[in-house]
Amino acid sequence: MPLCPHCNSANIKQGVLWGNQDGSGTGSVGLIYRGWMLSHLATVHSDLCADCGTVLRTYVTDLEHKGEWATYDQYNEELGS
Ligand SMILES: [Zn+2]
Repeated sequence: MPLCPHCNSANIKQGVLWGNQDGSGTGSVGLIYRGWMLSHLATVHSDLCADCGTVLRTYVTDLEHKGEWATYDQYNEELGS
């Protein structure tokens, strides 16, 4: 189990989902990748220290099932800028 680098607590909640302020759903914040024809969102998770609120790590899972990651540079190229 990881320890919080800020307060040294072991009270780490792993895999906490990101979502909208209005609570309309989870999985709506993520990193974009290209699948076959379409773009998709890879859900972002974070490990959170439940004692001081420090976010230890932010990550996506199931990388082998993701296509090509969409980057800012690539996005600009496609717009011709
Ligand atoms: Zn902490």
